[in-house]
This record gives sequence, structure tokens and C-alpha cells, in this order.
Amino acid sequence: MANDKHWYPAYVGLGSNLCGPGRQLEITFEQLDAIPDTRLIRQSSLYRSAPFGGIEQPDFVNAAAALLTRLSAHDLLRELQRLERQRGRERGGHKWGPRILDLDLLVYSQQKIAAADLCVPHPGIGERNFVLLPLREIAPALWIPGLGPIANIETSSNDPQISRIE
Ligand code: AMP
Repeated sequence: MANDKHWYPAYVGLGSNLCGPGRQLEITFEQLDAIPDTRLIRQSSLYRSAPFGGIEQPDFVNAAAALLTRLSAHDLLRELQRLERQRGRERGGHKWGPRILDLDLLVYSQQKIAAADLCVPHPGIGERNFVLLPLREIAPALWIPGLGPIANIETSSNDPQISRIE
């Protein structure tokens, strides 16, 4: 449901480490563009990152997408969760476990939301390089509410290795 006539910028983090992760994310970019009242404006490169959290599993592929949307932040989150479910993603798995598709709403306009089911800006932006680097690639001048300019956010030196896939 559209909240009003305005189009809001929103940024989404994508991650996958199962079933051909790169292809999974390419399909997901197309699906983001097909969300009602929503357009895909920019997509980042794909990044490969070593798994985090001490579980034996394949490397992750991560990316970020810039959207314009007329949906509210909560309605957009529901659409992202619908795409995860479509891909057979079960809720309630291990937080850092393997997954076909993980979608996070990273930034929604300049809003700060701290609800039980939605925290925006997503805390991962300041904590995880696999969230920060793709987002910074597509939005180098972005102001993150509560954190300031994305260009000033430092990468974490103790995070797993991450590299851009050429
Ligand atoms: P995960 O799939 O492990 O990233 O976690 C999903 C859970 O995080 C869901 O229950 C969401 O309601 C909650 N959540 C809180 N903030 C966000 C956000 N900004 N983007 C996506 N999920 C969020």
C-alpha cells in the first residue's frame, strides 16, 4: 500500500551463499524492480565475503540496491520478506547460518525507526564491511541518520575478507 504520493529513497542489502549466490542476487535485483510502487535505481557490484560467526559454510556474495518507493518502510520490509520466503528461506535459522537470500532494509529516506520488527538505519552499516562497502559504492554521498556521511564510516579491520567480484 502506498503511504502517499511521494517517492522515497530506500537502500537494501542483499546476501546469499547457497544455490549459485551470484545468480540468486541477479534475479533478486529484477524482483526488487518488480515490487509494486517501487523502482530499482542502482545496483552495486557483487562482493565475495568469508562467512561470519564461526559456522562452516560457503562464502557469501553480498550487494546493495538503491530503490525509489512509494511504500512505507514496513510495507517495503514485508515485500522483502515475501521475496525471501519465495526463495524457500525459513525464518528462525541461525543468525549467521547459510541462506539462499537475505534482504535487509538498510536505509529508508532519512527516517530513524526502532520498532520490534524493524530497525532503520540497519545496525550492520556501521558494523559489517559486507554491508558498508556495497552501499558506499552506490551511494557515496549518503547521509546515514545517526551516523552521518557514509564516507566517514570506518571499515572494521577485524571483519572477514571481502573482495569485489570483477
Ligand atoms: P535476518 O533475516 O537474520 O537478517 O533477520 C530478520 C529479522 O530482523 C526479521 O524478524 C525482521 O523483522 C528483523 N529486522 C529488524 N530490522 C530489520 C531491517 N532493517 N531489515 C530487515 N529485517 C529487519
